Amino acid sequence: MLTTNFKKPKAKHCKTCGDVLKTMAVSTKLCIRCFRQMAKEKRLLSLARKKEKKANSPSKLRKELDRVFSIHIRKSSADKMGVITCVCCGSRMAWQLAQNMHYNGRAKMNTRWDEENCYAGCMRCNVFLNGNYPAFTRYLLDLKGEKWLKELIRRGEQVRKWKPEDLKNLIEKYTVI
Ligand SMILES: [Zn+2]
Ligand SMILES: [Zn+2]
Repeated sequence: MLTTNFKKPKAKHCKTCGDVLKTMAVSTKLCIRCFRQMAKEKRLLSLARKKEKKANSPSKLRKELDRVFSIHIRKSSADKMGVITCVCCGSRMAWQLAQNMHYNGRAKMNTRWDEENCYAGCMRCNVFLNGNYPAFTRYLLDLKGEKWLKELIRRGEQVRKWKPEDLKNLIEKYTVI
């Protein structure tokens, strides 16, 4: 009985292209060509997802915001010839050669992208003189007064955790079109 009921198995077909399946594992129901194609698409998709994730990573967003915010600070401090005056030493240079100086250091996240904390200055003051704080402080005291400066310093001490969404909004705000 068993032998008479046994039927020769029907040829199975690839569910994508309809080709007869020869060697491919039946569990996938795909021929080798379609299986490879599917694997390739999966790989590309996962690569694209990884890339997108990376572009949205907090460190990437912070970097991009630093970049566009710095351009904003330097450009908005420049005169109509595109020249800025260093807030610390008074030297003058094209805004492209200037730097974005943070009164509260960049590590203080609450004021890192605060326009009241950031001013255009020269590389000598910002880098070689470590921010040239005596001159920077004098400049802000003359401009805004002691009460204002104390408040700025206090704001710098506040902890701030930035959400990717907030960073993206600021990038959009400061991106020059
Ligand atoms: Zn196929
Ligand atoms: Zn300077």
